[in-house]
This record gives sequence, structure tokens and C-alpha cells, in this order.
Amino acid sequence: MRTRFRGQTVREGVLLHGPAGWGEFSPFPEYGPRECARWLACAREAAFEGWPAPVRASVPVNATVPAVGPEQAHEIVRRSGCGTAKVKVAERGQSFAEDLARVEAVRDALGPAGKLRVDVNGAWEVDEAVRRLKELDRFDLEYVEQPCATLAELAAVRRACDVPVAADESIRRAEDPLRVRAAEAADIAVVKVQPLGGVRAALRVVEACGLPAVVSSAVETSVGLAAGLALAAALPELPYACGLATMALLSGDVVEDSLVPLDGMLAVRHPEVNFHHLSDMSSFQIDSPSWLRRMQEASL
Ligand SMILES: [Mg+2]
Repeated sequence: MRTRFRGQTVREGVLLHGPAGWGEFSPFPEYGPRECARWLACAREAAFEGWPAPVRASVPVNATVPAVGPEQAHEIVRRSGCGTAKVKVAERGQSFAEDLARVEAVRDALGPAGKLRVDVNGAWEVDEAVRRLKELDRFDLEYVEQPCATLAELAAVRRACDVPVAADESIRRAEDPLRVRAAEAADIAVVKVQPLGGVRAALRVVEACGLPAVVSSAVETSVGLAAGLALAAALPELPYACGLATMALLSGDVVEDSLVPLDGMLAVRHPEVNFHHLSDMSSFQIDSPSWLRRMQEASL
């Protein structure tokens, strides 16, 4: 990885090849067999079943701005070509003044027509969230992602402020979107295709939940990203740009034709792994026995 993410500097996973193409199994290291079973189902669907027909040929995606200074934030957005940006705020060790400066720079880079969302990763208390969102909203927020940690807190923020709330960390398993909906904790559901068990399973979850969905990645290679892209392409409604422009977080890829956006859009496709390319990349070796064990445990 180019930068630390979830405390990780290396992203590992397994590629599956089947009659329908390539699939990626890349659960994070701390996930046990029960969670991994869903991630594996997603990879199997990609390799052996393929995906439902898309209803759109391309998917709008957002630029992601980490907790960097305002100049760098401006530059990231300007160079991305995206009309939507997601800005990380409430980073540990930083002040709210730094958040405001970063968000202001991003609004400036986007122009008044651009969409700007902030991601708090659950770091604020309710009162703090309400107060800070009022201030940040002078830069016209599209929505706030996970302002607080719990569903009850998210619901309280939603009642007290005008900025729409999206649930991200609150949605990790298939049953979570329904809990979010029942608690009236969010206006938008951020969904990831591997933890939800594949494209078909995720489509069912989104339909049952009834909230508009933003498809996001789990920082996969282009093989894994393609599954998220297939979900975004198959959703009946897609009112928001998706968080699938994450290839740039990785220092390498396993396909030639990487899933990187052009003018803020990702063209829907299922990229092929180049075997020769892959075997040349000695830096992409993983510990195979431990990954085979993880797959076996996830299959039980
Ligand atoms: Mg998030």
C-alpha cells in the first residue's frame, strides 16, 4: 500500500479463477472464519457464476482526501477529475481547525457544483457532531459518513441536524443495514460487496434495507474492485458517487487494464489477470499455506 490504512501497510488476498472469470478473496487479517465465509462467497460468485446484468455502463466515483494539509487536499481533488470528494476529518491528533481548512480547500478545488462529503469514522460524540457539522456545512455538505460510533448516536445526530447521515462502520454484516434502518440511524447505506457475500447478496440487502446505497471498496485490486463495480452497475438506483476509486491506494495491480476512473467515472468491466505479469511480480508473494487455511476454514 502507498499509505497506512486500517493500521496496515500491506494488502493481501487470494485470486480465484473459474469459468466466469476472476474473483478476489481478501478479508482483513483480524476477520475470523464466519466473516470470511461471506468474503469467499463473493470471490466464488465472481469466478464461477458471474454477475447480474448491469443497468449502466459506467459508475460515478468520488476522490478520497486523507487527513492531509489544505494544499495537498486541493491538489488531490484537482488532479482526480472527480466531481465528488470525500474528505477525512476527525483524524486522531489533529484539530478541528485543520478539518475546516482541509474541507475549505476541497470546496475550493471542486467549485460550487461539486459534491463534498466528510468521513468521521465514528470519532465524534453527538453534541460535538451536531456543533461541528453546523460549522462544516457552510461548505455545503452532501452528507456525513459515520459521525458517531453507535446507531443510537447516529439517530440522535440525524434528528438534530440537517446534514444527511451515511452509515459505514455500522454496516459490516448482511443484517446490519436492516438494523440501521430500524434505528432510523441513517439516510444512506455505505455497502461493500465482499463482506455482504457477493453482488447478488448485496443487491438483496440493499433492496430489503430500502436506503439509497453508496458502494465502497475494501481496498481491493482491480479484480476485487470489479465486484463492487458490478454491484454499483446493477443497482436500480444510484443517486451518489461510489467509493470505488481506491486503486491509487495500492502500489501495484494484478491486471493490465486497472480499474481507475476517467473524468470521475469508472467504466463497467471484469478485468482479466495477466498470468505472466503476475508470476513476474515477486513482490506480490503471500504466505500461501496460511491463506489456504483461511479459505478452508471459511468453507466449513
Ligand atoms: Mg467510511
